[in-house]
Amino acid sequence: MNSSLRHIGEEVVRCVNCGNHSFKISLYLYEAPLVGNVLIESGTCSKCNYRKSDVSALDSGRFKTIKVFIKSPEDLNALIVKSSTAEIVIPELGVEVYPGPASYGYITTVEGLLERVLDIVPTGCEERKECIDKCNLIKDAMNGLVKFTLIIKDPSGRSTVIGENIVIAKYEEIE
Ligand SMILES: [Zn+2]
Repeated sequence: MNSSLRHIGEEVVRCVNCGNHSFKISLYLYEAPLVGNVLIESGTCSKCNYRKSDVSALDSGRFKTIKVFIKSPEDLNALIVKSSTAEIVIPELGVEVYPGPASYGYITTVEGLLERVLDIVPTGCEERKECIDKCNLIKDAMNGLVKFTLIIKDPSGRSTVIGENIVIAKYEEIE
């Protein structure tokens, strides 16, 4: 599969952090067959070093709720385009990731997303059985031992999931 990352432009806008007209956004288009086009925005302020990046799936059809059934180890390699406004819920694993003002968008795999969830485990987790069990369940899921449903709710409709054999249910509305 050939994919390419193409720099398509840049602009300087006002920085939301320091207010100076010094926030430079670089725009890239990630083009991949089967995948569709993804716009990647990467911004840095030259005055205060504030950074923000975001992604938008251009061919997502602007679906606001996406449900993906992860049922095989191969499905863990499916690509997730998670925009900064997306909320992620995995009921079977007790995972809920909510967007905040500091949220940024990124592209990752399903496995990579679970890895990120494990990275933000609260301190003191190792002293609570419930928390340890949850982490172990997520690790089992990363090893393909647990089937689960990945739900992405994105009011902006810029998120998507891309994979060869995965089944995706798309909804126009936020449920
Ligand atoms: Zn700034």
